[in-house]
Order: sequence, then C-alpha cells, then structure tokens
Amino acid sequence: MTARVVLRNPRRELTIDAPKRVKVVLRELAIDPDAVLVIRGEELLTREDLIEADDDIEIRPVISGGAVDVHTKCRRCGAKGVIELRRHNAAFCKECFLHFFTEQTKRAIEHEKMLEPTDRILVAVSGGKDSLALWDVLIRLGYDTTGYHIVLWTGEEYAPESLRYTQAFADERGVKLIVCDVREELGFAIPELPRTTGRPTCGACGLTKRHQISKAAFDLGFDVVCIGHNLDDEAAVLLGNVLRWDTEYLARQSPVLPSTEEGFVKKVKPLFRLSERETAAYAFLRGIDYQVEECPLVAGNTQLRYKAALDLLERDAPGTKAAFYLGFLERAKPELVNVEKPPMHTCPSCGMPTPGETCAFCKMSAVHEKKKR
Ligand code: AMP
Ligand code: ZN
Repeated sequence: MTARVVLRNPRRELTIDAPKRVKVVLRELAIDPDAVLVIRGEELLTREDLIEADDDIEIRPVISGGAVDVHTKCRRCGAKGVIELRRHNAAFCKECFLHFFTEQTKRAIEHEKMLEPTDRILVAVSGGKDSLALWDVLIRLGYDTTGYHIVLWTGEEYAPESLRYTQAFADERGVKLIVCDVREELGFAIPELPRTTGRPTCGACGLTKRHQISKAAFDLGFDVVCIGHNLDDEAAVLLGNVLRWDTEYLARQSPVLPSTEEGFVKKVKPLFRLSERETAAYAFLRGIDYQVEECPLVAGNTQLRYKAALDLLERDAPGTKAAFYLGFLERAKPELVNVEKPPMHTCPSCGMPTPGETCAFCKMSAVHEKKKR
C-alpha cells in the first residue's frame, strides 16, 4: 500500500509506503519538521498523524529561503546516497563521501600550507571522532604521524575508555602512540583543579592539554602538531570571541598557528572545513570505534552554548556556520593584522614561550600545589 507525496520548491513527487507516521516520513526524507507544513487536502497534519494508503500529501516549505530539496542520490556518481549534506545541497554515497572528506582535508592542508611530505607530525588524539578521523586521513595520505594521547582523568571510567579507543586504533594500523598520564607526569587529575585554582574545569583542562601537547611536540622534536578541531569548534570559538570583541584572540584565531617563537611548534587544524556531523559520519563509515560519550565534566561549558546557538541558526539556514567562520578567515581576519601582539618571554619554570612572566599553566599548577594541602 502506498501514498503519493509531493514536495514543493522545487517540485518533486514520490511514492511512499503507507500507512506511516508523518514524523517517520520526514525523518526518512531528512526534512526538518519545523520548516514545513504537511498538508492532506484541506487539513494540516502533525508529526504524529498517520499518512494512510492512497493519501495525497503535500510537503510545503514555510521558511523563506528554506527550499526543501531532497537529495537521495549521490551527487558524484548517482548511486543511493547515505548522507545528506544540506550545506552543500547534496547527498553522497559511502565511497564518494569518503572521497569528499579526504579532498576537503587535502585542500585545507595544501591551501593553508599546513604540512610538508617530510614533516614529523604529532597528532593530538582524544579518542573521539574528530581526532581519530583526522589521524586516519593523515595515515591514508601517507604522512609520518605519531599519536599523542593525554589521560586527563576527567572520569574514572571515561579516561581509560578513551585511552582504549585510541590505543586500539593505533595498534590496528601499526602506528606509534605516546601516552601521557597527568596523574603520573603532573601529579594531579583535572577534577582537582577547580577547587584549588578557582578556574572552571574546562578552562583548566584546556590549558593543561595545550601546554602538554606543545611541550611534548617541542621536547620530542616534532615539526608540526595536528589538532582535531572542526568547523563547529572553530565557529563556536569565533562566536565567543566576537561576543566579547576580543580583538587579540580574533587576530590569533586561525587554522594554522605558525612557529613564531622559539619553543612553539607549528600547530594546525586540517579539519577546519568539515562539520562535526561530517567527521562523525567519516569515523562511522570507516568503521572507526571511538569514544561516543561526552566528557562527564562538560556540563555548563560555554562553548556548548555557542554551539547550540549556531546549530539553531544552521537548522533553518544550512551553511550559516561555514559562512561565518570561513568568511571570517577570508574577509575579516586580514583586517586584524595590525592588532598588537604581546611581547613573548620564556617561562622560567617550564621554558615554554609566554606573554606573561610565568606561563598560565605553571601559574595554575603552582597555585594548585600550594592549595592542595
Ligand atoms: P576538545 O578540546 O576536547 O574539543 O579537543 C580538541 C582537540 O584537542 C582534539 O581534536 C584533539 O586533537 C585534542 N585533544 C583533546 N583531548 C585530548 C587528549 N586527551 N589527548 C590528546 N589530545 C587531545
Ligand atoms: Zn610554564
């Protein structure tokens, strides 16, 4: 038994199996229920209504510019699509999506001059989808990579589990992984820091991660560090910087942080053109097992609120995030070249470059040492 469905703007007709609930049909067609009216004759249907055999249904977009075009075929080869990318107004089959993802990464690396074929690369891997997808692409592209994983102890189960995903990935591919356990190497776990230092958890954790990754890359003589930040991450950071009009951070925000100071190894983000959903799809389609759970301490993280705000905008206008961040890089950032950069010193405690007297990480860990007793 079937029903006829007409999609409008642009017009398309399909036949669906019936009976079936409206919400199921919309989900199968990857249509946002908030962006359309579902019409049967004179009546409007809700998500819970049943479309019955022989019904004539119209799905009509209601948001200006919210054209509902359903792509079920791969844009590149015409086979059945497995993922729809509304931002690109396209769907891809598995093989063509993996190709698309790899090409976007290659384009970022080449266009931004991120990596040389002979570079010794340290890949910072958390065990999540982004950094494992990144590592996978880099290995497939033939780069010389070593993984670097920090056990942060943000959760007693979460930490060993994240390490397990990372280690399994490395073992399966026969690539080298360096593991740094903060309890052993720094003498503390992340959850202790807010009480002793007064810093919010995610801030203290971010500071620790950046410091450890930079220090390891320098101490071990790597040419460049790769980080798994994606388009959603970068757009959220940009939104935060814009909301505070933090011109110093805006001037520095970039997919490539060059090695300007002695002691600071070049840092790059090859996934900056790819969304979080795309990195998740890549990891899934490649059969990469990754830590799907969020960090147990993430609640209240401001970046998540910025992400949620951008998701809301993206939902009704696919491409908003890309336009915001990629447009910033292309058009706004060049205007910020004259923003004064603070003079750098060498941290007397750890030897890393810093704008302050002692670096922020060493200051934090000194406070922690003093207060923990
Ligand atoms: P996050 O700050 O958790 O969004 O992570 C951003 C990026 O930092 C990841 O894509 C990784 O490249 C790196 N990273 C995060 N957590 C770790 C970790 N525990 N060990 C090594 N690198 C990490
Ligand atoms: Zn320091």
